[in-house]
Amino acid sequence: MNPVAIITGASRGIGRGIALELARVGYDLIINYAGNHPAAEQTADQCRRAASESGKAVRAELCQADISRQADRHRLIDFTRQTFGRLDLLVNNAGVAPNIRADILEASEESFDRLIAINVKGPYFLTQLAARWMVEQIAARENAPDGYRPKIVTVSSISAYTASINRGDYCVSKAALAMLTPLFAARLAAHGINVYEIRPGIIATDMTAGVKEKYDRLIGEGLTPIPRWGQPGDVGKAVVAIAQDLLPFSTGEIINVDGGFHLKRL
Ligand code: NAP
Repeated sequence: MNPVAIITGASRGIGRGIALELARVGYDLIINYAGNHPAAEQTADQCRRAASESGKAVRAELCQADISRQADRHRLIDFTRQTFGRLDLLVNNAGVAPNIRADILEASEESFDRLIAINVKGPYFLTQLAARWMVEQIAARENAPDGYRPKIVTVSSISAYTASINRGDYCVSKAALAMLTPLFAARLAAHGINVYEIRPGIIATDMTAGVKEKYDRLIGEGLTPIPRWGQPGDVGKAVVAIAQDLLPFSTGEIINVDGGFHLKRL
C-alpha cells in the first residue's frame, strides 16, 4: 500500500512541484486547490506520468477546498479518509500574496484579514485535524507496527523574517505561520510525529511572475549566494527528504530552500 500525502495548493507552483516529487517516490496524493480545476487536473496527470516514469503506480485525486473555511478543511480530511483510509504526510503549502502590493501606511484591513485567514488560520486548524487523525492511526496500529511514521510540513517563506514594506500583511502572516511548527513539533513528538517548516526564497511561480524583472535584477546583483531562481522542484526535493524519513532525529526544524538568501554576509 502506498503512503498518502495531502498537499494544499497543489494545482500550481510550489505545490505542484512538491506533488511531482512525491509521486516519483510512490506517494498517493490528494491534490487540493482553491478554484483552478483545470490546473489541478494537469498536476494530477503529470504526477501519474512522473510516477510511472519512475517505475511507480500512484493515485492522484483532486479535492477542491478553501483552507480558510472550517467546513472545507473538514471535507478535505473526510475525503482523504474515504478515498485512502490513511494519512502519512500533510503538506501545508497553500498561501496567497496580497492582491495589491500596498505601502504599510496605506494597506487595508481587508487584505490583512484575508492573508491571516488563508496563510495562518487555514494551516493551523488543518494541522490540528490532520494531527488528531494521525494520533488515532498510531493508536490503532500499536499492536501491529508497520513503520507508520506520519509527518507534517509547512511551507512558510523568507518573508517570515524579511521586511517588505509593500506587503506587510504577507510578512506578518508568514511570521505567525512560523510558530506553527515549534508548537506542533513539541506537542506531537511523543507520538512519533515529526513536524518541519520549509522556508523557500525566491521561487519561479505565478506568485512571483509579476515581479520577475525586479528579482532577475536582484539575483543578477548577488542577492542570493546561489545565483539563480529557485524552482518548485527544489522545494519538492526537500519535502521528499522529510517524507522518506531522512531526518528521523530532527523535529521542529526550519529547512531553508533559498539559495543561501538567509546567510549574513560581509
Ligand atoms: P501560487 O503559484 O500562487 O499557487 C498558489 C496555490 O495555492 C494554488 O494551488 C492555489 O489554488 C492555492 N490556494 C490559494 N488560496 C487557497 C485557499 N484558500 N485554499 C486552498 N488552496 C489555495 O503560489 P506559490 O508561489 O506556489 O506559493 C506556494 C506557497 O509557497 C505559498 O504559501 C507561498 O506563500 C509560499 N512561498 C512562495 C514563494 C515564491 O517565491 N513563489 C516564496 C516563499 C514562499 P488555485 O490554483 O485553485 O488558485
